[in-house]
Amino acid sequence: MEDVVIIGGGPAGLTAAIYTARANMKPLLIEGPLPGGQLTQTTDVENFPGFVQPIGGFDLVQNMRQQAERMGTRFLMDEVVGCELAGTPKRLQLATPGATIETRTVIVATGASARYLGLESERALLGKGVSGCATCDGPFFRGRRVAVVGGGDTAMEDALYLAHLASQVTVIHRRDAFRASPIMADRVLKHDKIRVIWNAVVLEILDVAKGTVTGVRLKDVKTGQESALELDALFMAIGHTPNTKAFGRQLTLAEDGYLVAENTRTNLPGVFAAGDVQDHRYRQAVTAAGSGCMAALEAERYLETEA
Ligand code: NDP
Repeated sequence: MEDVVIIGGGPAGLTAAIYTARANMKPLLIEGPLPGGQLTQTTDVENFPGFVQPIGGFDLVQNMRQQAERMGTRFLMDEVVGCELAGTPKRLQLATPGATIETRTVIVATGASARYLGLESERALLGKGVSGCATCDGPFFRGRRVAVVGGGDTAMEDALYLAHLASQVTVIHRRDAFRASPIMADRVLKHDKIRVIWNAVVLEILDVAKGTVTGVRLKDVKTGQESALELDALFMAIGHTPNTKAFGRQLTLAEDGYLVAENTRTNLPGVFAAGDVQDHRYRQAVTAAGSGCMAALEAERYLETEA
């Protein structure tokens, strides 16, 4: 039986791995479908302490992974699809048929995934010009016309990144003010390659029949007027959904779907949560890493006193 299994390989999971490995708990870390988590899709990270110059998101998470590995973390690439988390041992069922793992403690650090609008045309054109990851797919649209949907920091970051590549970037936002931090919003508003369409929602992405994005049909939410915009790609930046599918029935969720945890302790003894899966408020790499450290210390304490 394992002492600790960490689910998720983003900053939260990797920091938990570094701490539990240093405490001789021999962690096993299960990396899901997106090893490294959301950070791998970020270009320059300039707010993670310790780096004078910006560091690429992928490089930052790779450094953390190598650090965790050097400390003795074992990695497994699989997905947890079911679990029994009450009592000891806790059982994790993996996507690999028949594979289960038994463990005394679990740290859930599964993060959150990009959200989509839910349009049929969006589903049909996903990967054909519709994307939830500007840094992954932006380079395919060098010199083309692209748009970003959303008004938060992700939308700003994506628009600024795409402005380096595309011929023109349009931000489509459903309100008349950005939610993003003023510094990011300011950079977007001052950028000569970026324009903003305010108070607009996407009704349909064109052209499903052609199998590629050629534009969008928009509606002004104030006037009800519809308009068309020609585009080669559309990037969604409308927030994230916490990845709790495998645990939702056993762990308490808040109304918005995030795991409820107090100082990383969930409702079940020996089960801890760290990073974006339990944090709808801060969602930063550094806060994720911080909570990964907390979860590791809590798991260590639990093993010493309760397991
Ligand atoms: P947010 O939840 O902050 O923003 C989502 C945006 O999408 C909002 O503007 C929202 O509009 C819009 N939206 C949501 N649903 C829809 C919909 N169905 N149709 C149209 N628009 C929609 O998510 P982010 O991913 O931008 O940011 C998440 C967190 O990560 C934040 O705390 C942010 O500060 C942080 N972050 C920090 C970065 C940095 O510091 N470098 C970079 C990226 C993110 P409305 O405003 O009307 O609700």
